[in-house]
Amino acid sequence: METSENCSVKVAVHIRPLIDDERFQGCRECVTVTPGKPQVQIGTHSFTFDHVHGNGGSPSSDMFEECIAPLVDGLFHGYNATVLAYGQTGSGKTYTMGTGYNDNHRTGLTPQVMRALFNRIETLKNQTEFQLHVSFIEILKEEVRDLLDSVNMEKSDTCNSHAGKVTVPGRQPIQIRETSNGVITLAGSTEIAVATLEDMAACLELGSLSRATGSTNMNNQSSRSHAIFTITLEQMHKPHLDPRGNNIVDEDMGEEYLSAKLHLVDLAGSERAKRTGSDGLRFKEGIHINKGLLALGNVISALGDDKKRKEGVHVPYRDSKLTRLLQDSLGGNSKTVMIACISPADVNAEESLNTLKYANRAR
Ligand code: ADP
Ligand code: MG
Repeated sequence: METSENCSVKVAVHIRPLIDDERFQGCRECVTVTPGKPQVQIGTHSFTFDHVHGNGGSPSSDMFEECIAPLVDGLFHGYNATVLAYGQTGSGKTYTMGTGYNDNHRTGLTPQVMRALFNRIETLKNQTEFQLHVSFIEILKEEVRDLLDSVNMEKSDTCNSHAGKVTVPGRQPIQIRETSNGVITLAGSTEIAVATLEDMAACLELGSLSRATGSTNMNNQSSRSHAIFTITLEQMHKPHLDPRGNNIVDEDMGEEYLSAKLHLVDLAGSERAKRTGSDGLRFKEGIHINKGLLALGNVISALGDDKKRKEGVHVPYRDSKLTRLLQDSLGGNSKTVMIACISPADVNAEESLNTLKYANRAR
């Protein structure tokens, strides 16, 4: 049996508290956690993951420290990483990731990532030069769209938040390309150079504001798209000079130049299409969303299976735009954390169980 230590995919569960809507409906909690263990029960089903979080409140700093801080650390050593929030609409994905506009942009995981990054850069900036870029895109109906291209139109005011000046994004389709050394790039997407935490936060805020949302039965702010906020960190070690001005080679410094990226992914709602209203259009979008989530499930389960990996089993990255885009940051040397978000309410028991089953395939 493989231990989670040597597996590049970790799975955390985040159980949000009952929300007012659920209380008004008279819902009861149906999810329990074994004290002191990363184990969740729902009905007669029991699952063990790498981490389980939730007894209310925001994604705690515990959750960040345990699950996400190692990924931020990896970036400084040149390792790509991906954080994925999976779950039905209303389960707390956007809240957990902190990628929503107006919602949780101080305590969610993305703002915590940003603060950790800039703190670390501050301590290293004497010996290393850093360049940070962000992009923010969404995938809706198997089409990639730019959530930051309005920033491009406002070069003079790059990334200034406070939405007054934001223009409606032009939203050109973007092409996913692969370079000869396996690096995935997004042709035509806006990449913004950011120098400060405030700049980066403004990009997050602007992008989340322009993210497509649609109404469903479950939550009228629900999103049927995958949103991907990507931070690219480039670093170049500064030459180390002795008093005579000669270059000292510092063995501990490792590579001269490193580049790595972290994708923070707020996935589309995982609920079945039948729960998403009745009109044909919405249903069609549901099918496309499932394509990305289906492909992601297959990719992650192929990566998590050591035996399959050793046999060189084909990892089906090309089956969706989502997995294609994440290809160089899922598997290989990169680190992946999937956060399964669930509601504790009995009315959502079936979807919560589906989410736990999906997440369980990644182990
Ligand atoms: P999703 O993105 O999965 O559709 P949201 O993040 O929008 O779900 O969360 C749905 C609702 O639940 C929102 O009103 C949000 O504020 C609330 N919520 C989610 N997670 C928590 C949490 N950990 N604590 C308190 N409220 C939460
Ligand atoms: Mg959401």
